[in-house]
Amino acid sequence: MAVPKRKTSKKVKRQRRTHKKLHLPGMVECQNCGEYAKPHHVCKECGNYNGKEVVEK
Ligand SMILES: [Zn+2]
Repeated sequence: MAVPKRKTSKKVKRQRRTHKKLHLPGMVECQNCGEYAKPHHVCKECGNYNGKEVVEK
């Protein structure tokens, strides 16, 4: 079985994990108001979709 030659240093381990952040799964920020909204759905806060207002408030 292949075994790593060296122990991964703390630095390398932390560098690798800089891309691993806490986030809400399946949610994107609204382009208009910055609220979290479902992707491919109209924002329920401001009624915008793809930069245009499509639902009246
Ligand atoms: Zn919005």
